[in-house]
Amino acid sequence: MGAKNSQPVSVVTGAAGFLGSHLTDRLLAAGHRVIAIDNLITGKTANIGHLAGNENFRFIQHNVSNFIFVPEERIDYVFHFASPASPIDYLELPIPTLKVGALGTHNTLGLAKDKKAAFILASTSEVYGDPLEHPQKEDYWGNVNPIGPRGVYDEAKRFAEAMTMAYHRYHRVDTKIVRIFNTYGPRMRLRDGRVVPAFIGQALRSEPLSVFGDGSQTRSFCYASDLIDGIFKLAMSDYHEPVNLGNPREMTIKQFADEIIRITGTKSTIEYKPLPMDDPKVRQPDITRAKEILDWEPRVDFEEGIKKTIQYFRESLKW
Ligand code: UDP
Repeated sequence: MGAKNSQPVSVVTGAAGFLGSHLTDRLLAAGHRVIAIDNLITGKTANIGHLAGNENFRFIQHNVSNFIFVPEERIDYVFHFASPASPIDYLELPIPTLKVGALGTHNTLGLAKDKKAAFILASTSEVYGDPLEHPQKEDYWGNVNPIGPRGVYDEAKRFAEAMTMAYHRYHRVDTKIVRIFNTYGPRMRLRDGRVVPAFIGQALRSEPLSVFGDGSQTRSFCYASDLIDGIFKLAMSDYHEPVNLGNPREMTIKQFADEIIRITGTKSTIEYKPLPMDDPKVRQPDITRAKEILDWEPRVDFEEGIKKTIQYFRESLKW
């Protein structure tokens, strides 16, 4: 692939996933060459199919929990975005989830160290667990059940953050950590079990919306393009502490279900189901740090983002 001297080269793990594919598009638009890696256990080639034939794009099908070999001499950025990322995925893939957060982070950090590249870890609001502080600031250490069903994701990401800071402090790797709060948009998997595709899919099929518990638990939803803008800014910054990225607009899951019913115009009703174990009761990012350090805040209004996402799922339901 022979990059021009000035052209930045990025490796993106999880590039066939929801966020990885949007990040790949953003990097290509900014003039990077992108080496995309994914083992396709939860990612889909359809998310990157439009990049086939793009001379700045290369895809490697590989599990990054195993040693990563990239022949390119020059790599400027390594973005570690590979991981199962929904509660259903963690239940089905508990050991791959632990491995990609732990071994995959070690391997991608090793790659960044070897190539003298910057490293960007996709971490998560799940590091805060079922939070006892609200909204969550970066200096909150969290309330995580290590042996619960979500522990495989939460603890792997907490380990990943520890490993990332160790490579920064001990090996002087230029690392960044983004704690990603609930994000939605096109390219989510319709059946990944997360609330946004679940409710939209149910609404479009005129099935009842499955609200877990009494629906009083809260989440704050960020549109994908806003999140990717923040990640790009963080990657270009020289800030090494974790940064929350998400949309502080918080709502209960019941309110979210009502909004989906209203916006889709479906005849669907609500059906209450048991609350999964360790489901966080509240979640809202404090984004003061991102505002100060990155001059970033989300711009896409909830209704606009949800309408675009509904349109995407309408199209995918036709297949
Ligand atoms: N949820 C729900 N019905 C569903 C899927 C999820 O009520 O069909 C709830 C879930 O219990 C949680 C919230 O929606 O309180 C967000 O769940 P999601 O799996 O999207 O992500 P989380 O933020 O829990 O990781």
